[in-house]
Amino acid sequence: MSNSNTAAQRFEPRADALHGRVIAITGAGDGIGRALALKAAALGARLVLIGRTVSKLEHVHRRIAELNLPEASIAPLDLERAVARDYDGLADAVQQRYGRLDGLVHNAGILGMLAPIEHYDVPTWCRVLHVNLTAAFALTQVLLPSLRASADGSIIFTSSGAGRVAKAYWGAYAVSKFGIEALSQTLADELQAGGTIRVNALNPGPVRTRLRAQAYPAEDASALARPEDVLRPYLWLLSADSRGVTGQSLNCQAR
Ligand code: NDP
Repeated sequence: MSNSNTAAQRFEPRADALHGRVIAITGAGDGIGRALALKAAALGARLVLIGRTVSKLEHVHRRIAELNLPEASIAPLDLERAVARDYDGLADAVQQRYGRLDGLVHNAGILGMLAPIEHYDVPTWCRVLHVNLTAAFALTQVLLPSLRASADGSIIFTSSGAGRVAKAYWGAYAVSKFGIEALSQTLADELQAGGTIRVNALNPGPVRTRLRAQAYPAEDASALARPEDVLRPYLWLLSADSRGVTGQSLNCQAR
């Protein structure tokens, strides 16, 4: 295991580890994104909750308010349908409200279908590549000016085991996650020289969420990690403790 992986998986955040940091999370209404939003807020972050289902984002927003944590904002964005105007509107709103962005977590994702390439549905292929990969590229591009305004910016791309070693039937999902790894490494390399923005890819490993249940409907989900169990590496990459770590592909779980 690399030194960064060890530091990420063993990270014990101080109570103020993310104090005052402005962090945007996509897919913040459910699964890993929701758990990360609640934990990051508890550590002092000011969150921009990005997602498709507004009622779920409102639920997270309400929970953060009930706990008297730093106020979050909601940014509805359907990554399947968003056009340039929507991305620009979100970026303008972030810049106007906060004047900078310290963290951007690309977490939203869809599985699509499990099928052999020979029979893979072409519209589903396009949808998965768009939501999982192209939308992350487009959102990163519009938010880079706000990330540059941070003294210590961190971008996290969510990868997968399927983005490191491809397996039969994982089709567009695997291809999108291999693409995410390439996007992460490309951007890290571009921003390395004299930059203050670090860029890394993180594989959560098997986690008990809707997406996992879709991929493995027959497995005993109670044996899987819960979203709140895999957050340490995300928090490490978002905190000042990971300064200087960039271009890495890390894992949340040992297996
Ligand atoms: P969930 O299905 O629980 O959450 C996915 C999130 O993505 C939801 O908030 C969902 O919003 C959002 N989303 C989906 N489509 C869109 C869209 N068009 N626009 C905006 N938001 C969208 O899955 P996980 O929490 O498991 O997944 C989080 C990330 O982790 C994904 O990138 C996934 O590939 C990755 N991952 C997960 C693993 C696991 O075992 N769970 C393993 C490896 C990687 P809504 O609720 O509104 O649909």
